[in-house]
Amino acid sequence: MKIYADNAATTKMSENAINAMLPYMREVFGNPSSLYEIGQKAKEALEDSRRRAAAVLNCDAKEIYFTSGGSEADNQAIISAARIGEKKGKKHIISTTFEHHAVLHTLKKLEKEGFEIELLDVHSSGVVTAEQVGKAIREDTALVTIMYANNEIGTVQPIREIGEVCREKNVLFHTDAVQAIGHVPVDVKNDNIDMLSLSAHKFHGPRGVGILYAKKGIILTNIIEGGAQERGKRAGTENLAGIEGMVTALEDATKDIQGYANKLIPLRDKLIAGLEEIPYSELNGDRAKRVPGTVNFCFEGIEGESLLLLLDDKGISASSGSACTSGSLDPSHVLLAIGRPHEVAHGSLRLSISEDITEEEIEYLIKSVKEVVDYLRNMSPFWRDLVNGKRPHVFKA
Ligand SMILES: *Cc1c(COP(=O)(O)O)cnc(C)c1O
Repeated sequence: MKIYADNAATTKMSENAINAMLPYMREVFGNPSSLYEIGQKAKEALEDSRRRAAAVLNCDAKEIYFTSGGSEADNQAIISAARIGEKKGKKHIISTTFEHHAVLHTLKKLEKEGFEIELLDVHSSGVVTAEQVGKAIREDTALVTIMYANNEIGTVQPIREIGEVCREKNVLFHTDAVQAIGHVPVDVKNDNIDMLSLSAHKFHGPRGVGILYAKKGIILTNIIEGGAQERGKRAGTENLAGIEGMVTALEDATKDIQGYANKLIPLRDKLIAGLEEIPYSELNGDRAKRVPGTVNFCFEGIEGESLLLLLDDKGISASSGSACTSGSLDPSHVLLAIGRPHEVAHGSLRLSISEDITEEEIEYLIKSVKEVVDYLRNMSPFWRDLVNGKRPHVFKA
């Protein structure tokens, strides 16, 4: 059996998205800035896609900026808010300890420039509260940036309430919604969002294309200088085929969120229940406040890397920590942020399933993880120390 259970890293493109792209490579290949017919046709398609994306997010087409993906959108949102803030003498930014590195590393850069970065605790639940945000906001707060759903553990933040607090206190609010779009309902008006990032390849669209939504009146700072594309805020000839694929995937992924949840949540919960039978293991993050497809566990006495290799032998593609951190020996900053000690943070497994998974495949996942964990523990001297009482257990049996 082959199971791709790493949809939080990237997804397989949908046939609809692929088909939506082809005409913009084969026929309407013109540059949208050119005045002749295939240029103008490309321009029309581009603006039509902008309107379609705006309809999904519930905003105006003028508030949609096409980018190269989630990382660029995060960078541009945060840098723009910082520049707006510093003009008014505001140099305090609020975020959380478990953001994606596209956010955390941009904040680090601003810190070196003299911004004060305050990272809120996300507790063992992996959920920050609007009350925490309210308490942290000061006169000189330039921005609150908090992710909608976490990429490693899948927990969903109370974005509407956080947005409400920011509105009341007149502070800009950005959310990295890369892991939320297509998984939970997202509506920038209803959710009180000023800026939002999304990325096509996380919802069955193509790699290398995304959106930054910025509410009317927010003046963006260019990250990429050059031509006057995207109303002068993002230079570079538009990735039209990518944009067409993205918007088609975006419409498909958001048209029946309830149906998606109804189908996937019972399967996800079956997976959680199955993995919880493994002794000395724990689910990471709140049980209910999570996207329908992401499950992350820590197992005592296990190395995440070996777990992945053995699962790969069984045809299962999964992840330990995020793709960006695997390859480094540091444990995931997300697992440390929710209070996992180093030794169990190293033994983590993320399974992110997609809508097409079957009950039989869920059973195979559970059986395979159980076998591999057992096998690895039996060869581990570290595990023997735990069993012999030479080291204390972190989790219950
Ligand atoms: C994948 C991801 C990103 C980065 O998006 P890219 O399009 O790959 O640059 C940013 N934030 C989160 C939460 C992600 O999961």
